[in-house]
Amino acid sequence: VKEDGRNDFRFFAKAMQQRTTRMLQLESAMHYALERNQFQLVYQPQMTMDGKTVIGVEALLRWTHPELGFISPAEFIPLAESNGQIIPIGAWVLRTALLQLKAWIEVGLKPMIMAVNLSAIQFRHPNLQGVVTGILNEVALPPEYLELELTESVATADPVNAIAVMNELHSLGIRLAIDDFGTGYSSLSYLKKFKVYKLKIDQSFVRDIATDSDDRAIVSAIIQMSKGLGFKTIAEGVETQAQSDFLMAQGCDEFQGYIFSKPLPAEQVLELIRKHQSR
Ligand code: C2E
Ligand code: CA
Ligand code: CA
Ligand code: CA
Repeated sequence: VKEDGRNDFRFFAKAMQQRTTRMLQLESAMHYALERNQFQLVYQPQMTMDGKTVIGVEALLRWTHPELGFISPAEFIPLAESNGQIIPIGAWVLRTALLQLKAWIEVGLKPMIMAVNLSAIQFRHPNLQGVVTGILNEVALPPEYLELELTESVATADPVNAIAVMNELHSLGIRLAIDDFGTGYSSLSYLKKFKVYKLKIDQSFVRDIATDSDDRAIVSAIIQMSKGLGFKTIAEGVETQAQSDFLMAQGCDEFQGYIFSKPLPAEQVLELIRKHQSR
């Protein structure tokens, strides 16, 4: 018994050490990732519920390291938030995404929404508006093409401050979307004060809507509430026709998901967008 316990401990200690080593590796590699061009953006179309028209795209960050290979944003974004690197990385994402939209418009695409994820750290940064307006001016695009996605937990952690920041971004003419909606703890009384354009229903509720009656009830309630408050609704993580049918029947406005397209590099998504722009 004693031997077993010791082995368990050794196993545990080894796993812990491997995790720490990995974190330290990523941590130091991250400091050079921008200047060494290791980041890339991929774009996932956001579609009208009938799947016919593209509304815009969401920019999603990818990091490929020469030795460590592909590193998921779910792993490195939290690290970048804890060491502050998310500030320069986030500015790079914003600039790159808007420059891409500009380039697409120049080759004949109709203007559309470029949705960019905003981290809690960026959202709380005192110079957020300065950075955003600086990049918008530099790229010379009207602010209404930019949609910033902030998670529900960011918006509700400090609602009074969040409302002030949202008001400022709104007054710049930028659209705001609440990401991962349903996973946080929005007080409904605050929600109506948010200068928000869109609610994004979290994919965890969408996954089982074809079969799970609780998830169906939740999703349908979110859509009704969203309509009542004058927000648009988009569902994320839509993979099947059954999910899409249910969302359409409930009056959801838009969707994003593998059923239409995975996030793709700019060159690949361009043709897909071209075919789905209204004439
Ligand atoms: P998110 O903002 O909720 O993005 C949606 C995630 O769902 C993306 O994962 C996307 O690739 C994935 N997805 C899209 N359609 C489907 C589908 O039909 N089925 C399933 N199972 N998944 C789908 P990804 O790209 O790995 O990003 C993970 C998270 O990392 C994002 O979640 C976001 O929180 C964060 N992230 C990604 N890029 C950025 C960025 O530029 N800045 C910040 N701050 N966070 C980012
Ligand atoms: Ca998002
Ligand atoms: Ca989301
Ligand atoms: Ca998510």
